[in-house]
Amino acid sequence: MTICAALIVAAGRGQRFGGDLPKQYARLKGERLLRRTLRAFCGHPKVQRVVVAIHPEDAAIFAEVAAGFARVSAVHGGATRQDSVRLGLEALGADAPDLVLIHDGARPMVSAGLIDAVIAELSAGPGAADGVLPALAVIDTMKRLGADGRICETLSRENLVRAQTPQGFRFRAILEAHRKFAGESLTDDAAVLERAQGQVVTVPGDETNIKVTTMEDLARLAAVLTENRTGQGFDVHRFGPGDHVMLCGLKVPHSQGLIGHSDADVALHAGTDAILGAFGAGDIGQHFPPSDPRWRGAASDRFVRHAYDLLLERGGALIHLDFTIICERPKVAPHRAAMVASVARILSIDQSRVSVKATTTEGLGFTGRQEGIAAQAVATIRF
Ligand code: MG
Repeated sequence: MTICAALIVAAGRGQRFGGDLPKQYARLKGERLLRRTLRAFCGHPKVQRVVVAIHPEDAAIFAEVAAGFARVSAVHGGATRQDSVRLGLEALGADAPDLVLIHDGARPMVSAGLIDAVIAELSAGPGAADGVLPALAVIDTMKRLGADGRICETLSRENLVRAQTPQGFRFRAILEAHRKFAGESLTDDAAVLERAQGQVVTVPGDETNIKVTTMEDLARLAAVLTENRTGQGFDVHRFGPGDHVMLCGLKVPHSQGLIGHSDADVALHAGTDAILGAFGAGDIGQHFPPSDPRWRGAASDRFVRHAYDLLLERGGALIHLDFTIICERPKVAPHRAAMVASVARILSIDQSRVSVKATTTEGLGFTGRQEGIAAQAVATIRF
């Protein structure tokens, strides 16, 4: 069996990043970047060991970051990235693996698929290269500046690629190359192997595998990780005596009313369940039990507002709330704009985030027989 180790480089001080801590310890959605990076490698079935090159001053925070991960050990890095990698490789050499993946600690979005692709290319048989790196095309035109700051040359993009990590190597080959060229300041490990006349090939990189060097990079990653979710709600109320129905918080005159414990606003009930459903917060019956006398005759705007406030408390945002009201009578179309305005007012959101539609069931079923009104709602939220 091929033994594959990962060497994570996390000893840098990140001068370009600012902040109190080196960038690899910055938080992304509450989790430190290095912990997310470790999770990618520790959770990969083809990676047996993980060594992390850290700065000696970071021992305490590293212990926090690595808590709970098996097969992870730390080694003190050096003054440059190249030194840190060499020291990490020497540490691994005590029980040498066949392959090593060398990866930037501040590149937390590395996917299992990319790790697989690098390992597969290294394992491609007798003719396999000694080194593999994930590469991306260069999209922008590249210019070379002269000493006076003016452009002196336009480079051809044709044979240029951007190198990412993890870069994978046959362990012996990269260890020997690093020993031989120690003390130089080569910026990636493929360059060290190239220097030793080793052959390096590429696999397709991944645009989301961003290396965090600035606060702006961190913001880009947060945007990549932003999660949209959808919830749906459905409700029915039966017609009874009355002279109006409540729909979307709006009083709509009708020859009958809707029966319910509260004001029987079937649309807002569906809307409440849609919002609650989008973040797994139960349903309207749990939050406002029909058995509770407090909710007798209650205006249903309280229910939907409560669901929305819970969402805000959890750090979510409501992107859109879309209603479908299903009935033969009353006709919804004349009230549609007022219903949209009503929901937007109840939730203090822009009207562009609310949609109200209506349909009949062509005279079929309970809504067709005008025994009651049904409503559906779909909420789109973002965390
Ligand atoms: Mg209801």
